[in-house]
Amino acid sequence: MADRISENLQDKISARLRFYQDIGIDLFYRNRTASAASSQLDLPASQSETINSVSIAVVAEYSETVETLIVAEPSVEESPVLEDTVPRTPRKPLLPAAPALQVPAPPKVVLSAPKSGLFDATSKISGDSLLKIRDDIGDCTRCKLHKARNKIVFADGNPKAKLVFVGEGPGRDEDMQGLPFVGRAGKLLTQMIEAMGLQRQDVYICNVVKCRPPENRLPEPDEIKTCSPFLLRQLDAVDPQVIVALGACAAQTLLQTTRGISHFRGQWQEFGGRKLMATYHPAYLLRNPPAKADVWKDLQMVMVELGLEVKRGAKSTSAGKPS
Ligand code: SF4
Repeated sequence: MADRISENLQDKISARLRFYQDIGIDLFYRNRTASAASSQLDLPASQSETINSVSIAVVAEYSETVETLIVAEPSVEESPVLEDTVPRTPRKPLLPAAPALQVPAPPKVVLSAPKSGLFDATSKISGDSLLKIRDDIGDCTRCKLHKARNKIVFADGNPKAKLVFVGEGPGRDEDMQGLPFVGRAGKLLTQMIEAMGLQRQDVYICNVVKCRPPENRLPEPDEIKTCSPFLLRQLDAVDPQVIVALGACAAQTLLQTTRGISHFRGQWQEFGGRKLMATYHPAYLLRNPPAKADVWKDLQMVMVELGLEVKRGAKSTSAGKPS
């Protein structure tokens, strides 16, 4: 009886070893104990010793082949049937496990503009200047916004400014005058700039699109895509220390995100190696004056970054100025 069982077991073990050999995990099997083999074959514990001796003998028979197989990766191409029918078994690692990497805590910055596409350094124009960018825009008809515009609104302010404000697009007053932020929202922006201890001519002000969207609607994606390369060139040419994105359109365009501005407003972002602060658009503040307090907090962070004096206890007023 014992001999019959032994032969039966030997056949099973031999078959199993060939199977393991075929898929390249013989070493794994060889290192297993007799009790494990017994368990796998669903046999009584009383037969463990027999199994052990048989398995050792059979394993020894294959050991030379095993040493070869554990060096070479098992080839799926060589075993097409196994790939379809045998579940993938993780191989025992041949090298000691590498020590766990210490992953540093994520930085405060929550978004950053991608370094590809429009933002790729390789797309920068050598020797670019604001003059050249304006020349390139010319009497632009690249997108449908040209149809209803009166004037192209390129920018205003200091071409060497440390601080750049980026808005969404011209409104009616801007379209008439050819200057950004000259209407009611523009006056509020000017007051905010002065509250920071700066003059409007100290900063550079521009928009994502240079022509007024009809009825002051939001610029559409194709219009933003067509016009924003000019904005990116402007930012590179001015090379400011800090960019303030006014409103969701500017923030989402520069950061290439669809997240709502309230999710990342008031936190420093990174744009092309520069610091970017997203805050609410002055036009929104005209409709929602309580939000001025949030904007003033954001601008105070900008002031700290630029080394401007921040008066402790200063609060925003209805005009956006600290009291
Ligand atoms: Fe050209 Fe920009 Fe005006 Fe469109 S919005 S017509 S791309 S300047």
